[in-house]
Amino acid sequence: IVKTRFAPSPTGHLHIGGARTALFSWLYARRHGGRFVLRIEDTDRERSTREAINTILEGMAWLGLDYDEGPLFQTERFERYQEMVQALLVQGSAYRCYCSRERLAQLREAQLARKEKPRYDRRCRRLVKPPANIDEPPVIRFKTPEEGQTVVDDRVRGQVIFDNRELDDLIIARADGTPTYNFVVVIDDMDMAITHVIRGDDHLNNAARQVNILKALGVSPPVYAHVPIILDEGGKKLSKRTGAASVMEYRDEGFLPEAVLNYLVRLGWSHGDQEIFSIDEMVERFDIDDINQSAASLNRAKLLWLNQHYLMTSEPAHVGRHLNWHLGIRGIDPADGPPIEEIVKSQAQRSKTLLEMAEQSLFFYRDPANYDAKAAGKVFSMETLELFARVRAELSALPDWTPQALHSAVMTVAQTTGLKLGAVAQPLRIAVCGGPVSPPIDITLSILGRETTLRRIETATS
Ligand code: GLU
Repeated sequence: IVKTRFAPSPTGHLHIGGARTALFSWLYARRHGGRFVLRIEDTDRERSTREAINTILEGMAWLGLDYDEGPLFQTERFERYQEMVQALLVQGSAYRCYCSRERLAQLREAQLARKEKPRYDRRCRRLVKPPANIDEPPVIRFKTPEEGQTVVDDRVRGQVIFDNRELDDLIIARADGTPTYNFVVVIDDMDMAITHVIRGDDHLNNAARQVNILKALGVSPPVYAHVPIILDEGGKKLSKRTGAASVMEYRDEGFLPEAVLNYLVRLGWSHGDQEIFSIDEMVERFDIDDINQSAASLNRAKLLWLNQHYLMTSEPAHVGRHLNWHLGIRGIDPADGPPIEEIVKSQAQRSKTLLEMAEQSLFFYRDPANYDAKAAGKVFSMETLELFARVRAELSALPDWTPQALHSAVMTVAQTTGLKLGAVAQPLRIAVCGGPVSPPIDITLSILGRETTLRRIETATS
């Protein structure tokens, strides 16, 4: 059975690269009816925070990436790691290293002076018994094979070959007994029976170390797929500022999760020239072998385009749930207003984001506190007072408050006054919405309802 995992280190937000790794791993598991694990790699206690864990969980939930196991925390598994460190010591695949910091520093300097790559010289690997009078407890190092090659068979990169002489005898447990990163990843992937490791290709070098440890444990490595990095719009590596931003910023900026997922899936994966994928289609079509070899670049215009597509084509009630959130953070209780689906239907074609939609829908909930000065200056005049009186009379007399009836009423006023339709609709719009932008006037008024519309016209003329 296929089992994948997403293994973030909770040292910051769930950023775009992490979210993409999570999505690819999730898709692969779903595609194959497998299991998806969320593992929080929090062994670096100094840098891991509760807040980061929360934003990761929040981001996963918002994207809808559900997991079958987890969240599991590495800090809860220290006993298991220690047990495995002991096992490697006992079987002779690891050794205690007593070298002092000073010695290691000197060694490093000497190697750098000779223009060599700094590397532990394996002195303690050959010790027969512990040295006398040592004052610091030892670290535990892994016995990397001294000869030969390590092959990482990668589904994206092909066979990547590492010369074992280039690999260090890495530390698997520190002097205080805490296990190190490459070691715990191996133990976890083994214990959790992970079959496919999909992650950023900044981990490719680690894969060689991890393969060696797995071999020593007699376990065959999982399938690896190291995904190329994501570049910013200018083709540069992502920095904290340019796009390593939290996926939650996409929520705050008004993107729908399905637009973000569709955007993410195309960062480094393609299926013919198809651009739009429903989640079901992604699950059906995703394959590791279609992950691109070259880096993908961010493209905000495309994200906006996708978002608009989903705003227009998704169920209004679904969009409405997300719009409610945006209204809520603006201090509005959507329950106090017209049906949210109606607002979504009237605004979907007119907004690129939910944020725009929310900003442009505030008038559905709040009477205008003042009128857009520029727009009102142009259309409000002595004549408009008379115009509003006619409009009011016409609207009050309507038996049905439907878009059709409202449309005819506005038409009638235009005909009887000899004004163009816009010359009636625009002042009316400013009076009821406070500004010059809204869906078509008949739709707007029908959503606002009779009482609110008439009240606002009255307020505008008093
Ligand atoms: N914790 C690692 C990271 O956040 C991922 C390790 C892995 O996927 O093996 O970069």
